[in-house]
Amino acid sequence: MKIAMVGSGYVGLVSGACFADFGHDVVCIDKDQSKIDRLHEGIMPIYEPGLDSLVESNTRAGRLSFTTDLAEGIAGAGAIFIAVGTPSRRGDGHADLSFVKEVAREIGESLTNSAVVVTKSTVPVGTGDQVERILAESPAVRERGLTVAVVSNPEFLREGAAIGDFKRPDRIVIGAEDEFGREVMREVYRPLFLNESPILFTGRRTSELIKYAANAFLATKITFINEIAGLCEKVGANVQDVARGIGMDNRIGSKFLHAGPGYGGSCFPKDTLALLKTAEDFESPVRIVEAVVKVNDSRKRAMGRKVIDALGGMDAARGKRVAMLGLTFKPNTDDMRDSPAIAVAQTLADAGVEIAAFDPEGMEIAAPLMPEVEMKDDPYAAIEGADAVVIVTEWDVFRALDLSRVKQLTKAPVLVDLRNIYNPADVREAGFRYTSVGRV
Ligand code: NAD
Repeated sequence: MKIAMVGSGYVGLVSGACFADFGHDVVCIDKDQSKIDRLHEGIMPIYEPGLDSLVESNTRAGRLSFTTDLAEGIAGAGAIFIAVGTPSRRGDGHADLSFVKEVAREIGESLTNSAVVVTKSTVPVGTGDQVERILAESPAVRERGLTVAVVSNPEFLREGAAIGDFKRPDRIVIGAEDEFGREVMREVYRPLFLNESPILFTGRRTSELIKYAANAFLATKITFINEIAGLCEKVGANVQDVARGIGMDNRIGSKFLHAGPGYGGSCFPKDTLALLKTAEDFESPVRIVEAVVKVNDSRKRAMGRKVIDALGGMDAARGKRVAMLGLTFKPNTDDMRDSPAIAVAQTLADAGVEIAAFDPEGMEIAAPLMPEVEMKDDPYAAIEGADAVVIVTEWDVFRALDLSRVKQLTKAPVLVDLRNIYNPADVREAGFRYTSVGRV
């Protein structure tokens, strides 16, 4: 089947390349000319492990191509995915649907064959109805009499493990209101259910809500263990053992119970906020999620204050130097959207602390977001002359630092580990003053 993917960012490019790898004929479309130019040259516009070779092999096989021309890209496609951004709208936290609606209008203008339009972007309940209305009013339906079904197919991949997640998903969710939509989606995902990936067919509104409920639940799990970590610090307990102890219960599960500096990234912060807005609009408050958003917001700056405490308090911190290791919201991505590192750096800068940093993939995007931070070429260059070293993101390269070299390079042997990647006894034995999260 020919598939068009409108929006070639983290989700669109990965999904498009994976669909091509399953044997479909895929065109990835993006309005960003420089992104498409780079893809034509074989240069990936984002960092995602394994993506370059997947794109290269499928492009070479003639199954994957790129264009900025939407009309050309969607011609003859049986399924047209919308995978553009849905960021928080400035001011009120609602999901900004302007990109999604713009794409729906463009599809309606130029479509010349019947097709299924699939929202893969994370969109609030009712967006499929809006897309359907836009298409029903468009020349494609009004003048050309084409059949267009609108389907919801939220994406659950994680950046950093996106290809594996897409090819072996825990589940595929499809919200369709008619048989045409369901039939085309069965065809699109046939290679996956041959693989026995569970597929859930449901209504479109339910499907849209599943995505927000999933992200809000995961954000709640993280925030829950973060608050338990705070309590552990006060009572002298160990949060990693608490997480293990509760996670062994199958009803709870061991994943997403790692205490840290708070969730960030391009999804959880905006999706939890958007869910609150939907709940408010429908007068059905989700108070647990309201609390999660508040707790997580305050946690990020609290992590900055944790570093200031390790430097000896506000007065002592002024003029001192901190090395931040890791800036992206999690390892194996260059995504800096809503990364906790931004709030940590701001809190430190507000307290008059100088900051040097190293991140394996995120520095180019981070630099303009964090003008107060001096970017360095490797971890040890960032560490040199620091009064404290802070691990903000658990990239593998920070898991086995040469602690004696770190000690020699720093002014004071202070290590703040916001990801609990070191064993407290080992680090203390190496002569460091060590602070982590939820462990004493
Ligand atoms: P992104 O910003 O990386 O990519 C969006 C792309 O869409 C950009 O390249 C942009 O140029 C393009 N675009 C915008 N308007 C366009 C138009 N009119 N025509 C063609 N292209 C256009 O965003 P992303 O991270 O891939 O997220 C896309 C959606 O998927 C969002 O709704 C997000 O919430 C959701 N999602 C993201 C993830 C993730 O891990 N990033 C996971 C699951 C779901």
